[in-house]
Parts: sequence; structure tokens; C-alpha cells
Amino acid sequence: MKHECPHCHEKTFTPLQKALCGSMRGRGKPCPNCGRRCVNSMTSIYFSSATSGIALAVSVFVYLTMENKLWSSVIIAGCIAGSFLLNFLFDMFFGKLAEPIRTMQ
Ligand SMILES: [Zn+2]
Repeated sequence: MKHECPHCHEKTFTPLQKALCGSMRGRGKPCPNCGRRCVNSMTSIYFSSATSGIALAVSVFVYLTMENKLWSSVIIAGCIAGSFLLNFLFDMFFGKLAEPIRTMQ
């Protein structure tokens, strides 16, 4: 299962390579076939803002409600790590690759 390059339309990106391309805010990674840069599309940004929003809301809730500060910090760290992991998995298996907005040479 490989992802299609938005430039040459060859299936050149493995899920891991695609996840490492980063978002539209980043520089992206060059396609192994045509060498032009690819990033994860806007869907990835929407998904990551949703998951980090939820992680933040849960963290604030846990921080304010839990008496045990050790456990609350463990849960908060887990929320942050979990949202990073979810975003990474989303980039690996879902969403599409796109051309970077900024063209950097
Ligand atoms: Zn390509």
C-alpha cells in the first residue's frame, strides 16, 4: 500500500515516508521518482488541530479536577503523546499528499 505523488502520480511514498513529509506548514519531502516536494494535505492539519484540541481540553479538565498531581501529569503526558501518535498514524494511512503551498528551491 503506497501513496500517490501529487506531481507525477506514481505510487512512490510508503506510509512511513508519507507521515514524515510533515504538514503544509513544513517543507515536505522529495518524491523518489520525480524529486519534487510533497506534503500532507489540509486534511492532516484539520485532523491534527482536532486531536490536539481534544488533548488540550482533556489535559485542562484533568488538571483542574484530579487531586493526585502525579497521576494528572501522567494522564496529561499521555494525552499529548496520544495526539501526536494519532496524527502520525493518520498521516501514514489516511489523507492525501499535496504540493507544498510555498515553493522553496
Ligand atoms: Zn513524484
